[in-house]
This record gives sequence, structure tokens and C-alpha cells, in this order.
Amino acid sequence: MVRFVDVASMQRWVAQTGIERIVSGMAEMIEADFRRWGEFDKRPRVASHSPAGVIELMPASDGRAYAFKYVNGHPDNPRRGLQTVTGFGVLADVDSGYPLLLSEMTILTSLRTAATSALVARRLARPDSQVMALIGTGSQSEFQALAFRALLGIRTLRIWDTDPAAMDKFERNLGSLGFDVHRATGAAEAVEGADIITTCTADKAYATVLTDDMVVPGVHVNAMGGDCPGKTELESSILQRASVFVEYPEQTRIEGEIQQLPADFPVTELWRVFRGEAAGRTSPDEITVFDSVGFAIEDFSALRYLDSCVAGTEYAAEVNLIVDPTDPKDLFSLVSAGALTLALN
Ligand code: NAD
Repeated sequence: MVRFVDVASMQRWVAQTGIERIVSGMAEMIEADFRRWGEFDKRPRVASHSPAGVIELMPASDGRAYAFKYVNGHPDNPRRGLQTVTGFGVLADVDSGYPLLLSEMTILTSLRTAATSALVARRLARPDSQVMALIGTGSQSEFQALAFRALLGIRTLRIWDTDPAAMDKFERNLGSLGFDVHRATGAAEAVEGADIITTCTADKAYATVLTDDMVVPGVHVNAMGGDCPGKTELESSILQRASVFVEYPEQTRIEGEIQQLPADFPVTELWRVFRGEAAGRTSPDEITVFDSVGFAIEDFSALRYLDSCVAGTEYAAEVNLIVDPTDPKDLFSLVSAGALTLALN
């Protein structure tokens, strides 16, 4: 039997547990997994691009568990009433090769992305950070806001989106949750006085959501919207003034903001920071950038965290996904009636 978490179960689990509690727990697991980086079998995700977007498979294994996520990114989907990003994923037992958990991962991806963003910002943003600018208030944005409150205590948000309806939705969703939200009239106004800038826009283009003059010394930029080839958010000169941190250079150099720069542009791998082998922020005036693209180990951690919370509970149904004939060599016995049907016809 395989544990199965569908959308309705995911909704109930999140509603009854709380987003801030989940992202806090998930962030701990992501950090712990990044700290044992060397144990993982890892590779850049397998991406299939089309003019409309991308479909990706993201596998990772630590030799005991194996996970993969199927995920898409289609920036024009909201115009046809669809999500930009959707996903589902599997956690499996390496010893038997059998799947253990099959889960929706659209909501789970928003949780794990927010957990990762805030986890990284806790290392890289100035410790006295109080204000975050959020550029792009689509599907990921509320999750980002809640994760930054849970992990860094950020309560003041300055928001900007080219779509006023997206800002209406954001204000409606977070209105009663104790944030102080300032709605800006443009990106430049949104970043005024911000200690942290999160860019979470979706546009399959070399966009310049953030220009060089908008980023002042001491700011941490959580650049999470540019996550595939030909899709960026920052003016490249920002990166040249900043210390840039990445999940997995082999993937980020193809997909991240640094795709705009030479292949030897210096970056710091996050796992080294988590292990204390590389410095995070070194001075209050430093500009730090997390060039986030989303890496398979984060999904591995998210699935393991989910499984540890839902196994044996009402949130995980048991589904019969794998055959179980009495004689393991007699798979045919399960469908032999079909052979008879063919013979009769
Ligand atoms: P979404 O389509 O729901 O929201 C994107 C928002 O950006 C929209 O409201 C849009 O109006 C706004 N926007 C577009 N261009 C803008 C601009 N120039 N200035 C201000 N606002 C602008 O998408 P989403 O699900 O919230 O995802 C946002 C981005 O994050 C996508 O590109 C997605 O691929 C990426 N993403 C990254 C990770 C990661 O791990 N790094 C994970 C999930 C999603």
C-alpha cells in the first residue's frame, strides 16, 4: 500500500497544523538535509521546454530514500484560469524500490519554497531586518510572507504587482493575519526602506523587475521568480555588487539570475554556509542575493517531512498502487482473465 495525500487532505493538514508551524518544521529538515550534502545522489532537474513554459522532473536520493517531483512552470496559465506552477511527487524506499508516499505538490511546493527562502534569509539578511518588499503577489506570495514572519519575525510588508487584482487578493488573504501591509505604486516605491526584497514574479523573459538603483547596501534579495533559462528578474549589475548564494551551481548557472553572467562568476553554495564551511553575510553593508531556482533536495525534505507528519493519520489514505500477486513471479495471474477475453473474441 502507498500513502496518498490528495489536494483535499493537504488542505486539511495545512489548515489544522498551521502554515507557520509547517514551514518552521520543514525548514529544519531542509537545513539538516543540506548539511549532509555529500550523501546525496543529485543532478540538475530534467527540463522539457516549450513556448508556453516548462515541465520538469526533479529527483534526489540519499541512498535510503528516493524522491522525485513532477512540476511545471507556465507563466501565462493564470490568464486561462490555471496555476502557473503545479506538481505532484513520490517518496520511495531505495532498498525495495517501492513507493511509500504519493502526494500533491502544488501546495507543498509553495510551503517548501517559502521555507527555503526564509531559512536562507535567516542566514543572509541583516539580523535587525524588519521590513520586506514583495514584488509579485501571485500564488507564492502569502506563503513567503508567513514563512518570513515565522523564521525572521518580519511583520511589515511593502507589496507591488503589475496586476492590481493580485494585490487585492494578497491584502484580502493577509488582511486579518496581523501584518502591516503597504501597497506601493511601483517596484521602486515598494523597495524603499526594505531590509529584504523578495522577487516572485512570473514572466518567461529576461525581465528587469529590480534595477541596480533599487538595491541599497545591506539589503538581502530573495530572488525566487527567475527559475528557468530565459527567465530572470534582476539587472545583472546587482549580482556584480552582491555576494550570491545558490542551491546547486550546476542547475543555477543554467536557470538562475546568474545565467546572465560568465560561467565562472563566483557563487557560494548554501550547504557550505549551513555546515559553517563558508561565510554567510559578513558585514551590515553587504548586499546578499539568494539566486533561488528550487532544488530537488528541498522536495525530498518536504516529502519526508510531510510523510513524518501524516503517516498513520487521516490525512494519508492507503492506495493500492503496486501489484501484489501471491507468487511474485506470477504477475500474469492478476490479468489472466484478459487473455481469456481476447481468446473468446
Ligand atoms: P503567479 O503567476 O501566481 O504570480 C506571479 C505574479 O507576478 C503575478 O501576479 C504577476 O502579475 C506578477 N508579475 C509579473 N511580472 C511582474 C513585474 N514585472 N512586476 C511586478 N509583478 C509582476 O506565479 P507564482 O506561482 O507566484 O510563482 C512566481 C514565480 O516563482 C514563478 O516564476 C515560478 O516559476 C517561481 N517559483 C520559483 C520557485 C523556486 O523554488 N525558486 C518555486 C515556485 C515558484
